[in-house]
This record gives sequence, structure tokens and C-alpha cells, in this order.
Amino acid sequence: MTEHAALRGKTAIVTGSNSGIGLGIARSFAAAGLDVVLNSFTDTDEDHALAESLASETGARVRYIQADLSKAEDARALVEKAGRCDVLVNNAGIQHVAGIEDFPTAKWDAIIAINMSSAFHTAAVAVPMMREAGWGRVLNVASAHGLTASPFKSAYVAAKHGVVGLTKVIALETAEEPITANAICPGYVMTPLVESQIPDTMKKYGMDRDTAVREVLLARQPSKEFATTDQLGGTALFLCSEHAAQITGTTISVDGGWTAL
Ligand code: NAD
Repeated sequence: MTEHAALRGKTAIVTGSNSGIGLGIARSFAAAGLDVVLNSFTDTDEDHALAESLASETGARVRYIQADLSKAEDARALVEKAGRCDVLVNNAGIQHVAGIEDFPTAKWDAIIAINMSSAFHTAAVAVPMMREAGWGRVLNVASAHGLTASPFKSAYVAAKHGVVGLTKVIALETAEEPITANAICPGYVMTPLVESQIPDTMKKYGMDRDTAVREVLLARQPSKEFATTDQLGGTALFLCSEHAAQITGTTISVDGGWTAL
């Protein structure tokens, strides 16, 4: 891809990238010739095989580095072990759904740590590397829930709003340098996590698959279509391009019109 020639050989770390959106972004980066670091909290043969197969599919250098992003020291060590970070994608995330009065404290702490604090720790190590290299991109995968709220998702909505705020601060601290920081805010994206919710939703509401998807899962997504991991990968690549050099400290929604409602 000649349009991304300037990105060839740059190193991208994508947190939480052994599945879903992170893997989609990692695939787009590897196809564009970036060196990619895949990550999750596990350290299985499958994780390393995934890195090998992505490398052989694309010809890019792909490594897998284990780090449990619920821990500050692991988040910082991930970037240190990578040795270089031109593009940092903070994507790892988890969810828990419960009313505020029943929300388990341990779940609150885990969601704030993984979905928000890990982005602070990785950026704290990565931004100096970007300064040293003279170029950088921070992409935080937030959510439509970084801009709006839903009931029963207190920790997730708080963490995602926090990530949007953190993104703005990083952008201001790097504004006069060739470094940008932006948040990508997906609506519902078809990932294994979402796919696995469909059978339960069909059962719960006594609906066929199409009706359950349209009326329940995509109730707030006006396009009535899921975003795809490939579209998220394309958005991430665009934010790394020179066309996006003056886009910083903002959010890009990929949500089929959710936040227009
Ligand atoms: P997913 O479950 O497929 O991916 C989450 C990734 O995070 C996985 O690779 C998982 O291993 C990793 N992870 C979880 N806990 C971790 C930990 N402690 N340390 C390191 N890695 C950890 O889900 P996804 O849908 O691809 O979500 C990716 C991101 O996109 C999340 O931040 C999520 O909030 C956000 N998002 C998803 C959607 C959607 O509809 N799927 C919508 C908006 C935002």
C-alpha cells in the first residue's frame, strides 16, 4: 500500500489485540507494513501462533508480548519490552453490567484499571519514546460510551469518559510536536464478544436472530448495522496518516449515527 509508505517499519503496540477490534487494528497495521506488537493478559501457544500467522500473511514483523493491563507495572513493562513505540493503541477493555447499588467493587476497580488507567501507564512510557523518535500517534479506543451513557454500565461509562479526557491532555502536552492523540469511539462492533450475546438475547426476548440484532443489540445504532473490525482498522490507519496530522485531542465516532441521536 503506497499510501501508507511513511508508516513502513514503524512500531505499533496494540493492547488487547488477540481478538476483536484490537486484532482488526493490528491486521490493518501489519498489512500496511508496520511492525506490530500484539498483547493480552494470556500467554498461550495460540497467542504466539496468532503473531506468527499475521507475520506470514503480511510479511510484517509481529511479536506477542504478554502483559496484564490491570497492573500498572505490567502496562509500563509492555512498552519497555517492545523497546520502541511509534503508534500506541490503547484498546484492551472489559465490561460488567449491574445497577449502581449492586455493582461489585472488584469489577469497578478492574474496569477502571484495564479500560482507563492502563492507557495512562502505557502513554507515560510511550510518549517519551515518540519524542525521541520525532513522531508519534496515540490512539485510544474509547466508545460511544465515552460520549454518552447507558444505565447499568457505571464503571465502563466512567472509564471511557476518562479515556476521552486523558486523550485531550496528551494532545495538549504534545501539541507543538509531530505527535497526535485521539480517541476512536465505536458504537456496536461485530466481535466474538458481541456475537456471543446474540443467542441469549434471542432466548430472552423470544426473537429470531435478525429481530434480536435490530431491535435489541442495535436499538441505539441508527444505521442498524454493526461497525466492523476492518472499518476500525481503517480509521486507525487514517489517524496515523499525514492527512490526519492536524487532527489531535478529539474523538472520531464509528457508530452508525448513535451519538447523533
Ligand atoms: P474483545 O473482548 O474481543 O477484546 C478485548 C481485548 O482486551 C482482548 O484481547 C482481551 O484479551 C484484552 N484484555 C482483557 N483484559 C485484559 C487485561 N487484563 N490485560 C490485557 N488485555 C486484556 O472485545 P472488543 O469488542 O474487541 O473490545 C475492544 C475495545 O473496544 C474495548 O476497549 C471495548 O471497550 C471497545 N469497544 C468495543 C465495542 C464493541 O461493540 N465490540 C464498542 C465500543 C468500544
